[in-house]
Amino acid sequence: MSCLSMFEDLGFITRWRIKSDTLVRFLLMVKKGYRNPPYHNWMHAFAVTHFCYLLIKNLHLHNYLEDIELLALFVSCLCHDIDHRGTTNSFQVQSQSVLAALYSSEGSVMERHHLAQSMCILNTEGSNLFENLSSKEYQTVLDLMRDIILATDLAHHLRTVKEQEELANSGSYNRNNPEHKHILLCLLMTACDLSDQTKNWHNTKYIAALVYQEFFSQGDLEKALGKNPLEMMDRERACIPELQISFLDNIAAPVYKILAAFFKEAQTPMRNVEENRKHWVHIGQLLKRHGNPTQAMSVEQIISIEEDGQEDSPPTSGGQVNGR
Ligand SMILES: [Zn+2]
Repeated sequence: MSCLSMFEDLGFITRWRIKSDTLVRFLLMVKKGYRNPPYHNWMHAFAVTHFCYLLIKNLHLHNYLEDIELLALFVSCLCHDIDHRGTTNSFQVQSQSVLAALYSSEGSVMERHHLAQSMCILNTEGSNLFENLSSKEYQTVLDLMRDIILATDLAHHLRTVKEQEELANSGSYNRNNPEHKHILLCLLMTACDLSDQTKNWHNTKYIAALVYQEFFSQGDLEKALGKNPLEMMDRERACIPELQISFLDNIAAPVYKILAAFFKEAQTPMRNVEENRKHWVHIGQLLKRHGNPTQAMSVEQIISIEEDGQEDSPPTSGGQVNGR
């Protein structure tokens, strides 16, 4: 129902003459296309799509992008992790999965699969919400979805973040320049995908717990296959506060910093990421002070250690700003 409201409110239904039964069938098929791993499930897709809705409205993205680009971005958010199995691209390759056999030569194994699954839904009788687009528009929206969904591979992001930063800092964005629009769309997609990091502390820490639950399951699988998991996937070695701080510093915080450089209205998510980082630093300090070996603690215990640490003052003064 929320997805329907967002489609309606963004004007997509009228603009693209989307039939309501087609839209409902499309949404239900997308929802059903998600499996139920701890993190990469329909709730993740919904949260990412909702953040996209907030960006379109609050950053007035229609001043920067064409209608069809906004449609492609929004639908890509819904579809971008369809049929995720809770394991990474490198796990597909290492475990020689069927998906790796299909896509590993081109890279971005899972993202190519999410795209292929999305195309399957669009090709299903009665579920093509793009059915009333002209053939030129239809080709455009599919090309855009391809670019945007493939941009959700963080490896792709790390290859392109420099040009995003340069464009944002130069202030020379030009909506008539297709290259500029492509760079902006990739930035926006990543900002949506990582938006858990911009939520208030209570939400962000519980979502982090789901992420590590998924990572550790993969680590367990890798051990069973006789492989050595990465530290972040290894429940016996992972130091969650340190891993989170490194993720924020190296990946998430720069995304919202670039977004804030692009749009004056986008200061809130950047500030929230900074506030959340303070909490992770605080948790790291508490763990050290109590001499707790993190290996002996569950993810839930680690993230709730602040609530138990009564003697310590909270790290934030102003509190978070709710950007809704
Ligand atoms: Zn995602």
